Amino acid sequence: MIPVKIYCACGQKYAFEVEPREGWMPMPVACPACKRDGTADANRFLAEALRAKTQPLPPPSVNTLLNSVQASLAPHLVDALKDAVAQELAAQRRQLLAAQQSAAAELTELAKRLEAVQTPLLERLRAYEQRVTELEKDLADQSKENRELLKLKIEMLREKIQTERTASRISFN
Ligand SMILES: [Zn+2]
Repeated sequence: MIPVKIYCACGQKYAFEVEPREGWMPMPVACPACKRDGTADANRFLAEALRAKTQPLPPPSVNTLLNSVQASLAPHLVDALKDAVAQELAAQRRQLLAAQQSAAAELTELAKRLEAVQTPLLERLRAYEQRVTELEKDLADQSKENRELLKLKIEMLREKIQTERTASRISFN
């Protein structure tokens, strides 16, 4: 059964439920106020209702949303939008590069300090691990941009610790 609502030309609204026969009204309907034939209106309503039923709208994909945005924007605004996206990506790349350099510089500094005073391996490892712990503590309450840098530093330190450990195993054997 499909609920049908008709808004008659006379201003009367009426509604009923019907079991369509092959998509059409199985019998004529008329406005209860002015007796005007409502069958054609009812058939249009049924066609729309059945189309919506057999073709459920898929959730909009990102592309669909982008297309709808593009369709509703003037071409020069679409270009501006694309430029903005491209610039945002470039800015992120620059930030990441700067973060990498800064993390590498800090690690080099720490390694130099430890090597300058000929810190024994175990103490060097402890120092690196201490720094990792500090960075992880920072990481917990940092803003997102800083988090990326901190994660990078931690990753580099872990690699350094791994390298030192491997080097020590080779020298002991
Ligand atoms: Zn009517």
